[in-house]
Amino acid sequence: MIANAKKNYAHAWKCYRCSETKNPPAFHRRTYALSYQTNPHYNRQRVSEATLTNGSAGFRDTSHVYVPKLGRIRCKGSRKILVHIFSMHSVRIGTMTVSRDACGGYFLSMQLASDEPFVTSLPKTGSAIGIDLNLKNFYMDSNGRCVNHPVYIQRTKRRVTRAQRILSRKARGCRRQHIPLRRSVRYQAQRRLVARLKQKIKRQRQDFLHVQAMDLIKNHETIVAEQLDISRLIQLRRCTKAIYEAGWRTFLDFLEYKAKRYRRIFVKVNPAYTTQRCSACGYILPTGQRLQLSDRQWQCPSCHVIHDRDRNAACNILQRGLATLSK
Ligand SMILES: [Zn+2]
Repeated sequence: MIANAKKNYAHAWKCYRCSETKNPPAFHRRTYALSYQTNPHYNRQRVSEATLTNGSAGFRDTSHVYVPKLGRIRCKGSRKILVHIFSMHSVRIGTMTVSRDACGGYFLSMQLASDEPFVTSLPKTGSAIGIDLNLKNFYMDSNGRCVNHPVYIQRTKRRVTRAQRILSRKARGCRRQHIPLRRSVRYQAQRRLVARLKQKIKRQRQDFLHVQAMDLIKNHETIVAEQLDISRLIQLRRCTKAIYEAGWRTFLDFLEYKAKRYRRIFVKVNPAYTTQRCSACGYILPTGQRLQLSDRQWQCPSCHVIHDRDRNAACNILQRGLATLSK
């Protein structure tokens, strides 16, 4: 625990000396969320026999862990995952992180290593798909399937807005009476409520993104998406919030690591002209006739095919991705 802190401290200074940044390392600010890390020790001769249960820290059985200084603790986790890792041979524990979040919940996360893979490979499907991320819906794929933004997040967001208004009212009251916020019971209770709701949104969004990404990975062997340049999108001022909230960057990150894990192919392509190009004949609309954000359907002036805006873009992305792969 102290050893890990020392190591982090030394590492921070080393990074500072190696890089060209001007600011020396700073200490963490004290916040409501805290964490520390520790490592279990394994007997030197028996590293090859290391398991989840025989280190100086780690599991004692499926519902108890031993953590240095804290002792034996009852723990709860995904039953499915626990049963799975306990059924594997030679799983070792790397770094353990003990953390407390802003809602006051305590968590223990472990970095695990094993000689056998943690996931089973998925069956081959031989299909390729292109996806177009757009503001109207979450994404549209090249088969014409459309996934909408989840509605339930909007509902939770309304509750957050209300709770935050009450929180700032309580903060004003504390300031008027010169009470430090940390000592105000009512302020702290409201703060935990806001933190809980925000955590709910975060979990709802992450769950949605995981489910969507896994769905694509399961059913398709090659997935092509556009290279997102968020800073360029943000310049379209009007939709800044919608872009951040959609979580596309996280979605693409999820797709990337899941594709690696399940041995699928994931390609990102340059999105230039994917909307303005006809996917049937390759005709690119000239500058004067560019599609606006409001044009949902259009007809190609060259081959007269009627296109759905988003599906056409998804088809273009797929074509471009397959072209880069065959090179
Ligand atoms: Zn055309």
